[in-house]
Amino acid sequence: MDFAVTAGQRSLRERLRRFFEDVAPTAVVAEIDRTESFPEEIYARMAGFGLTRLGLPEEYGGVPSDEITMCVAVEEVARAGASFAYAWMPTVTFCARGIAKYGTPDQKRRFLPAICAGESRMAMGLSEPATGSDLSGLETVARRDGDEYVIDGHKTFTTGADTAEHILTLVRTGGGLTAIVVPRTAPGVSVSTRPKLSGQGTHACDVRFSDVHVPAGNVIGEAGDGFRLILSLLDRERVYVGAVCTGIAQGAFDLANGYARERVQFGKPIAEHQAVAHLLANMAMDVRTARLTTWEAAWRLDEDLPCSAEVSMTKVIASEAATRCVSNGMQVLGGYSYMVEYGMERYWREVKLNEIAGGTNQIQRDIIARHLVRTVETALSP
Ligand SMILES: Cc1cc2nc3c(=O)[nH]c(=O)nc-3n(C[C@H](O)[C@H](O)[C@H](O)COP(=O)(O)OP(=O)(O)OC[C@H]3O[C@@H](n4cnc5c(N)ncnc54)[C@H](O)[C@@H]3O)c2cc1C
Repeated sequence: MDFAVTAGQRSLRERLRRFFEDVAPTAVVAEIDRTESFPEEIYARMAGFGLTRLGLPEEYGGVPSDEITMCVAVEEVARAGASFAYAWMPTVTFCARGIAKYGTPDQKRRFLPAICAGESRMAMGLSEPATGSDLSGLETVARRDGDEYVIDGHKTFTTGADTAEHILTLVRTGGGLTAIVVPRTAPGVSVSTRPKLSGQGTHACDVRFSDVHVPAGNVIGEAGDGFRLILSLLDRERVYVGAVCTGIAQGAFDLANGYARERVQFGKPIAEHQAVAHLLANMAMDVRTARLTTWEAAWRLDEDLPCSAEVSMTKVIASEAATRCVSNGMQVLGGYSYMVEYGMERYWREVKLNEIAGGTNQIQRDIIARHLVRTVETALSP
């Protein structure tokens, strides 16, 4: 295994860092959170940068990418702010890459070029009011009617649905579950938003479907095979959650490290008080922990190695490391950590979600434990 970061990855990180420092400094992101306004202009500039093409096939306007490069990009987007990550990730890293992997050529032609160009977004409609961790129990139904499916049901937590053109929706069809792309403006679709703790620019939505007619040609993969398809996409998404955590932890560390060198108490910079220096050391170790586990899992994806248990481990390790890291960052900044202008409170609000969404850490531990019952080999092998 090669741990060297390529020149291309290093350059991508540096360019993305400069780009977000320019278009989304702390004060701008704070204003987006305060006003809960979707950052349309910044998303357009992200598209101009090329972020909406990343990891997608060239023939539809994309720029193919290995998984570690994807993780570098995810880190920088997450470091910049959750409102950007919550719009970009469901669209590009989840839905578009899902369509690229499982869609027909016609579906790829219909959906991918507009996403690559930044002109169209997607949301992922999995969770329902009564169905969170146990997706197998979901109640949104789609019945076949000639060349169409007719959908009735209710999704919740559908991030970004109000500004997305399409919702990749998991529905019950006959005996199984099916993934289908629903246009947000189709008659019978209604979207409402609910206030939330972080990344307020991209809204948490409730989506209600009432007698919604969708062409059968919008089914991604086989009808009835949606559960397997979504689980395989979630596996990859959990590696990206690790990258989100790395980006947040790195951002918190950079803030705390800079602050501790400037803030003087008892006649010297607080970084020279051992208790603070140890907080910074712990933060640095948490950044490293999150990044190493994430990149190892990304490498497994690139090598096409089995990795369901490993990506669950990555999600748990990285999210808990990042939560610890940001908590220490709050301590380093003292009272100023609570002040919006410093940016640390934003990381604190943003970081916790990674222990919850995309399958809670309890569910990840269940997956790991089930795997260990079957074999200990993967847990022990490099
Ligand atoms: C900001 C935000 C954005 C989100 N974005 C999206 C999105 O875009 N699309 C989407 O589909 N979903 C989205 N979600 C939903 C998210 O994936 C769910 O919140 C998550 O899967 C957990 O489901 P739940 O909240 O219903 O919790 P529940 O499943 O009700 O769980 C509640 C608690 O019980 C625990 N628990 C449940 N079952 C077990 C068990 N068997 N063993 C041990 N513990 C258990 C859980 O770990 C948790 O601690 C989002 C959530 C949030 C908060």
